[in-house]
Amino acid sequence: MTWRETPAALPHSTPRFPFADPRTTPMPDTLRDRLYSTEAIVLARRNLGEADRIYDIFSVRSGRKSIIAKGARKAESRNGRSLDLLNRVVVHLYRGRSLDGVRGVETVATHPGLRDGLQAFAAASYLADLVRVMTQEDEPNERVYALLAETLALLSDGVDPWSLTRYFEYAFLEASGFQAQLHECPTCREAITEQANAFSVREGGVICPRCRASDPGAVALSVNAQKYLRTMQRDGLRRLLSLQLDEASRQQVERALTDYVQHIAERPIGSLAVLHALQLKAPDPRP
Ligand SMILES: [Zn+2]
Repeated sequence: MTWRETPAALPHSTPRFPFADPRTTPMPDTLRDRLYSTEAIVLARRNLGEADRIYDIFSVRSGRKSIIAKGARKAESRNGRSLDLLNRVVVHLYRGRSLDGVRGVETVATHPGLRDGLQAFAAASYLADLVRVMTQEDEPNERVYALLAETLALLSDGVDPWSLTRYFEYAFLEASGFQAQLHECPTCREAITEQANAFSVREGGVICPRCRASDPGAVALSVNAQKYLRTMQRDGLRRLLSLQLDEASRQQVERALTDYVQHIAERPIGSLAVLHALQLKAPDPRP
């Protein structure tokens, strides 16, 4: 008899249940314990062997996770089709030794608008990259999940990609514990007054003119650029979308946020270069 088999009669008279300590009693390794489901967004994928694929997903239940879909590269694979990039899905999984495997997929949203617009798709890819690079495996974050799901839906619906991208950068950093300081100089604690200032990526906020010399790399911010950032922080996306911003301030806001994101990420985000190249070629229509 191997140690896994249950003896016909226990070698002691005391009943094991319900007195056994659940913390030390080994759980039976039944199939049911190995199955679970979660809602998720598909962030990236790569091929494995002849027929399989590994997907990076951001899931409600366990945050970022890599999963394997056997046979997903075959033309007739329904799982492969449902796990298209940037799709929002419910994925049914089984626990595997290294990677959990896909049993089935239900589509929640396919974001068809992302397939029609290059800029919307490039923006969505950049946001997915941020989440993939800047979140930890098995660390769920419902705020980040909701933010990503909502932003992808709005991008697909044709809402201005530039504003959505800036709002996502700001809100994603905030949800990850890196709220930018906009009202008080992070170096000397003086209140920020209404004048041209600068954003210090290193200090994580707007620094006053006196402290500016301490960070020569700080990004200049006009009064309008600072108002835009404060609206983002105070009033959220809906109000932000109704604002108009002059071109110079627009570039300042973009540089401050993208520099800040990459500073926190401690590496350049590859898809940001693609997004920039597209913006230079064909600027988004101004609101
Ligand atoms: Zn200061």
